[in-house]
This record gives sequence, C-alpha cells and structure tokens, in this order.
Amino acid sequence: MATLHGHIDEKLRAAHDAVLRRSSGEPEFQQAFHEVIVSLGAVVAKRPEYVRGKLMERIAEPERQIIFRVPWTDDRGEVHVNRGFRVEYNSALGPFKGGLRFHPSVNLSIVKFLAFEQVFKNALTGLPIGGGKGGADFDPRGRSDDEVMRFCQSFMTELGRHLGEYTDVPAGDMGVGEREVGYLFGQYKRITNRYESGVLTGKGLQWGGARVRREAAGYGCVFFVDAMLQAQGKSLDGETVVVSGAGNVAIHAAEKAHQLGAKVVACSDSTGFVHDPAGLDIELLKQVKTRDRDSLAAYAARRDGVRLVTDGSIWQLPCTVALPCATQNELTGLDAEQLIANGVIAVAEGANMPCTPEAIRAFRAADVAFGPGKAANAGGVAASALEMQQNASRDSWSFEYTEQRLQSIMVEIHDACQAAAEEYGVPGDYFAGANIAGFTRVADATLALGLI
Ligand code: NAP
Repeated sequence: MATLHGHIDEKLRAAHDAVLRRSSGEPEFQQAFHEVIVSLGAVVAKRPEYVRGKLMERIAEPERQIIFRVPWTDDRGEVHVNRGFRVEYNSALGPFKGGLRFHPSVNLSIVKFLAFEQVFKNALTGLPIGGGKGGADFDPRGRSDDEVMRFCQSFMTELGRHLGEYTDVPAGDMGVGEREVGYLFGQYKRITNRYESGVLTGKGLQWGGARVRREAAGYGCVFFVDAMLQAQGKSLDGETVVVSGAGNVAIHAAEKAHQLGAKVVACSDSTGFVHDPAGLDIELLKQVKTRDRDSLAAYAARRDGVRLVTDGSIWQLPCTVALPCATQNELTGLDAEQLIANGVIAVAEGANMPCTPEAIRAFRAADVAFGPGKAANAGGVAASALEMQQNASRDSWSFEYTEQRLQSIMVEIHDACQAAAEEYGVPGDYFAGANIAGFTRVADATLALGLI
C-alpha cells in the first residue's frame, strides 16, 4: 500500500483520523481521501463553517453503498457467482454519475475510492452531476459475447432497481465498453418497460449514444495537458509522449496527442508494453486492442521496428510528456524519479489515481506540470453529461460541435484548478487546485441543502 504522510492541518486532524479509522481494510479509499484532505488546510482557514458543519465527515461518508450477488452461467452451463457493487457517493450537485468497472480486482475499497474521486471530478466539470461508481469482480477477458450478455443481464436485474435518469446514471469504465453498456441498457429497458435513454451513458450512436463519448476521456486528458503547457508558453507540438494502457482512454489520448503534433512512442497493456520509436500506428492499435481484443504482442508482430517488453516499467522510456492511462498506482516514486531524470515536463493522469503519493510528491517537487486524474480525465464524464443533455432534449449533436464543447470544458477545468491554486496560495499546483475547487463546490451545495 502507498504511504500516507502528507501534512494534515490541525483543524482537519479529527476528521481525517475518524474517517481512516472507519475505513480500515480499504487502502485505496484511504489513499484517495488522504490525498484530498492534505490540500484543504488553507480552505478551512478561510471557511471555518466547513469544520463547524462537519463537511469533511459528511462528504467522506457515501450516501448509500449497494453490494449484491450476480449469478450467471457460462457457455458450458457451469454456474458462476460474482459480486456486484454500486457506491452512490454524493448527490448534492445532481444524480449520482460514474462508471462501472468489470475486473477481477474490483472490491469495495476500489469502488469507493473511484466513487470518492468521481464526486470532485464531476463537480469540477461545472455540470449538474453528483458522483458514484460501481462494478463487479467479473473478468470479461476470454468470455464469449453470450457469456458477457448473461452476466450483464444478471447484474442489471439487481442494479436496475437503484437506477434512474434522476437518481443514478452509470457509464463504462475498465472492462465496460459499448458492448456491455448495450446489454445493460437492453436489460434495464426490458425490466422497466421504458426507453429511458438518460439512465446510462456510453451508449451506441444508433440507440441514444452521443458523438465523442468514446473518445472523450482520452481526448480530454490531452486537451488538459495542452492547456497546462500553454500556460507555460509551450505546446504539445513536437513533444515525445508515453501513454500507459491500451484501452479506451489510452488509445484516444494517443490519437489526440498525435493529432496535435506529438510523437507517441509507447503504450502498455496487462501483458507488457511496446516501444515504437517511429510513433504508434493508432489504427493498428485500435484493430488489435479494440476489435480483435488481442494483446500488444499482436501489435509488435504486425509492425517493423517495434520492441515488445514483458517485464520492466514503461516509465523507463525517455519522454517529455507522460500520460498514465491504465490503472491505479501504476506509476511509482521510482518511476517518477526516472521520468524526471529523463526530462519529463508534463504528466497528466488519464486513469484514476495511477500515480502513487510518492510519485506525485516527486513531480510537484521537481516543478513538473502535474494534472491530477480528477481534473485531467474529467472529459469522459463531461461527455456523459452532454449525452444526458442530448437524451433529455431528444437531440443529437455533430462530432465537431461536441468536441469543441469538450475542449472548452477541459480548458474551464484547467482554469478553475489554476484559479483555486492561486487563490489559496499555491500557484501552479494543479493537484491542490483540483482538490480545492472540487471540494468547495460540493461543500457549498451540501451546506445549501441542509443536514440530509
Ligand atoms: P479499458 O478500456 O478497460 O482499458 C484499460 C487498459 O489498461 C487495458 O489496455 C488493460 O490491459 C490495461 N491495464 C490494466 N492493468 C494494467 C497494468 N497493471 N499495467 C498496464 N496496463 C494495464 O479501461 P479504460 O476505460 O481505458 O480505463 C482506464 C483508466 O481510466 C481507469 O483508471 C479508469 O477508471 C479511467 N477512466 C476511464 C474513463 C472512461 O470513460 N472510460 C473516464 C475517466 C477515467 P488489457 O488490454 O491487457 O486488459
């Protein structure tokens, strides 16, 4: 587990210790909570009503947590039982909103940390959405379409009763893409006898989906990096980029970085990484990872000059911009030291909490522009909120218009983080700025709604 040793303001100490005590056995959640509260010392000095009203304690406690059995049969008729989760964290700003993750590692701690991060991320978008997250310890890899469908139907049979376009609106995350959202939406429609498009986002274009949703988290992350670089009078053009992961976020981050003139030389998956000094072939990557659902070995086999590495860290490769887009705690303090030694100038978290606290400290100490996940990967949920808007108005926007909306939202998030950092005496510190701007928006709405 990552070590938690940031400075906690005395006014926040009691809340910090109480929340950590109540969440023993939830290391990822404790890490996410700790990383927020270390940024709030200056906030409570200015806003003592947050301490009086126990805002930290209230916001740290989810409104509701649901854990349920998901039984299903495989193609041979064998029975399997998985565990499903939905943490409905905070609905002060709007209905609970956040993705579903299907991965064998999923447990309550992971879903709770993701939901906690989501609350502040959603607040940062400025859109009317609360925060939640869910998933199951189901591994879709190697499963047939029919097996995935039966699992999704069983999962939704229970989860469906907790959802609604004004209550809780899930989307995809790791292991949940358009295929899974389709099966989930189909089962919800069947159970409720309602074509309630706004109950799930990440839908296919033919059945209520929105343009740019698929690309949004990755594109948004790159728009955020570009905004950080522009604030320093630089740009992505000509930079060398390393992206980790080879899923939805990673592929689209690589695609947008390439479109903005950067050279993306590496990406990874759960089997290893590929180093492609000529620059990744994005179309081949999409074919191998998205359509064939294969491993990166297949990419290396189909392209000259590519090195496949199955042991070692992708962060040893020299680059000027690093985009961790795979999973939590995948970039350690040692990796950060190596990136800094290699001349990295900007890091943005496409994934949720991919950098350990040690790594974040190293980047901040070395004045590397660091975009934390709750700001840098907010493009995914922002596009989801735009999908909800289109569903509500029975409208469908063009790709160009939607992408431009996404870009302005990312620039606004960047500016909000920058302004909060300046206001609270830590100019240029996007990590603190994101925590402060996200937290104060949720805290003010929570106060306004009374003690509920
Ligand atoms: P995804 O499509 O399932 O892709 C995840 C990728 O990461 C896969 O290529 C996977 O490898 C790889 N991976 C998993 N563990 C790894 C490890 N330890 N080392 C290297 N690679 C690893 O998921 P995603 O939607 O892109 O999500 C990635 C991250 O972004 C997650 O943290 C998620 O919470 C966050 N996020 C997603 C969205 C969204 O809209 N999708 C929005 C905001 C944030 P395999 O291909 O071998 O499985």
